[in-house]
Amino acid sequence: MTLQTDLVHPPAIPGDDSGATSTPIFQTATFAQDLEHPERTPWDYSRSGNPTRDVLEKQLAKLDGAVDALAYGTGIAAVSAILRLVRPGERVVCGEDLYGGTQRLLATYADHLGICVVKVDARDVGAIEAAVDDSTRLIWIETPTNPRLRVADVESIAQVARKKDAWLAVDNSMLSPLLQRPLDLGADLAVQSATKLLGGHGDLTAGVVAVRDASLAKRLRFLQNAEGSALAPFPAWLLLRGLETLDVRLERQLGNVAGILSALNGHPAVTRVHYPEQTHGTSPRGGVVISFETGSVEASRTILETVELFRTTVSFGGVTSSISLPGAMSHAAIPPEERKRQGLAEDLLRISVGIESIDDLLRDLRRALDETRPGVRQNADSRRGIDVVPAG
Ligand SMILES: *Cc1c(COP(=O)(O)O)cnc(C)c1O
Repeated sequence: MTLQTDLVHPPAIPGDDSGATSTPIFQTATFAQDLEHPERTPWDYSRSGNPTRDVLEKQLAKLDGAVDALAYGTGIAAVSAILRLVRPGERVVCGEDLYGGTQRLLATYADHLGICVVKVDARDVGAIEAAVDDSTRLIWIETPTNPRLRVADVESIAQVARKKDAWLAVDNSMLSPLLQRPLDLGADLAVQSATKLLGGHGDLTAGVVAVRDASLAKRLRFLQNAEGSALAPFPAWLLLRGLETLDVRLERQLGNVAGILSALNGHPAVTRVHYPEQTHGTSPRGGVVISFETGSVEASRTILETVELFRTTVSFGGVTSSISLPGAMSHAAIPPEERKRQGLAEDLLRISVGIESIDDLLRDLRRALDETRPGVRQNADSRRGIDVVPAG
């Protein structure tokens, strides 16, 4: 069966002969046990195991080609679960361009648990290899990164990890396993914030760790129960439903990305566009996030304030398009000099492309881009658009 088919045919829950076509939500904390025949009652407590979450985890394992996958309450809980595998005194070599919450967690663990964190540019495989020493347990990368969309070579880094006997974990939140399967490329662990593309509707938080090796999976399973970080039944069910449309959502979103890329590339208000170069035929395969620069913070703010369909929010990957100014929003906590050193332009706008009609998206975006250009600029009252056709 292909993945696309598997995603809409989740396995049945053992013992459930109701014939339900949608996986039932087992909204319960406890399960009555049969002490004489324990095999008849495989579940006892939802922290340790829940039928709805079990189905979800099976689907997630299929999606990543993993021996096992674990679902957590948030993406960052999934990140944390992996960092728990590192012991005091061991080293983590990580990309310097990482999700802010992951950087905060690494810094916290470095302080409290005595983990040594070394940051390198993950595009430079040689730099990673040089940073990996005998105490290195884990290499941690994100690719493409957010919001700069820098791409690392997972296969080559996986070879370094193998050679040096370290694990490679790849945060794949930006692409999802339908566009990049880190385990197939040699990674040991694939992490996702399922809050983004996998859920796809901005209505849940969840995280996933997919594992290549059964003994590593067993350790994570133990920790998931011991720390109580597993995903609850209701969001597990929402995520199962989100997975059913992942493929069609992505197809539509990537089609919209193609249209938006060509509009941005041709527009005089845009000085630089960032998008990964992975392409597949003529369709973009680099995910649903595009970032671009305008040459001035003021112009970028004007665009952000003028667009209507692109809501000003953090996060990405949902069916609704959004826009953000990372320098003033998600990355505002990083000191300006450090942002500059990392190459994060203050005028960088990031958009996440949803499933709206491309005609509406282009009309909205073009109107905002035109607004930044004196010759074309309409009167300021037209900001927040009186003349824009509402979505629908
Ligand atoms: C959002 C995100 C996370 C954290 O996920 P949450 O679900 O918000 O906890 C981790 N990594 C990346 C790349 C993300 O974008």
